[in-house]
Amino acid sequence: MGTEIDLSSHQEEEVAYALDNAKVPYCIWGRPLLRIYGDSATQFSGWVIPDDRLEDASETLVSIGYRFCQIGEECDIMQNGNGSHPHSDYHFHPDEVLQHSPRNGLPTVTISLYPKSSILWSFPDPPVGLPEPNDAYYMLASDERLPCHIGAPLSPWLSWGRRSPERYPLKIPKPIKYLENMVARRCRALDGSEDPYHWMKEIYSLVNIMMSNRIPNLLFLDGVSSPFERYLAIMCNDIYPLSKRKEKAWEYLHVMYADLKNNFALPPPGKQFFRAGEDLNTRIAKWQGFCNRLAKWKIKVLEHED
Ligand SMILES: [Zn+2]
Repeated sequence: MGTEIDLSSHQEEEVAYALDNAKVPYCIWGRPLLRIYGDSATQFSGWVIPDDRLEDASETLVSIGYRFCQIGEECDIMQNGNGSHPHSDYHFHPDEVLQHSPRNGLPTVTISLYPKSSILWSFPDPPVGLPEPNDAYYMLASDERLPCHIGAPLSPWLSWGRRSPERYPLKIPKPIKYLENMVARRCRALDGSEDPYHWMKEIYSLVNIMMSNRIPNLLFLDGVSSPFERYLAIMCNDIYPLSKRKEKAWEYLHVMYADLKNNFALPPPGKQFFRAGEDLNTRIAKWQGFCNRLAKWKIKVLEHED
């Protein structure tokens, strides 16, 4: 069984440069993004590409020496055993990897491409060039509102915080919009159409970043839309133990599911069916009254500090 490893920051810049040069819009997502936001997360190099530009992105990666892995989901390197992220439509390894398999468990650089509709479905396409300063959805990894870079003596894969403005610009989604998409995906998984585990990990990581105040609250919460604001109020309310917050967040997700469904705002279903568990509609009906009771909770994190 192999293990995928994400790109070094130098390799990320190389890929970003090649995609920009080919005028293929992109942004990164997943673990490298969480590290930029301020969490020393594990490995996973995910790139979001507009659906109709995936082929162009694929050709661009091949042109700079990455090999399209035709084994797909069954690739040994991708079997890291924890189901930690959704299967990508395309993944790539450095050219030499596929000439010297098996890798005997060695971590292997992997780039995974995802169609925007499956990850950031509510986002417009990323810009081809630099995002505008007031772009509501995208920013650069060097944005000064992100936490200061914490690097050496940490390895490049464990460092976190914003990138140097002197490096090649790397496009990322803005935290608040990204968080909303991750919560909505977690919500969608209630119907059993996909594994919720990856979305849960993303959300817990983002909540940790928020609660550690590595990014000022306003960056996250100024403009967060209903019903996500209330979900965050539950998850970040540290006067309650984490287990209690998770329990209440789980109940509230059902209220949110009904809300998003009524507003035709649910993400598309996942590609894999897992288990629906107890009938979803029964659970929704059970917790519909939860919103009223929630009013008693102190929404601590929403009290912005000056
Ligand atoms: Zn592979």
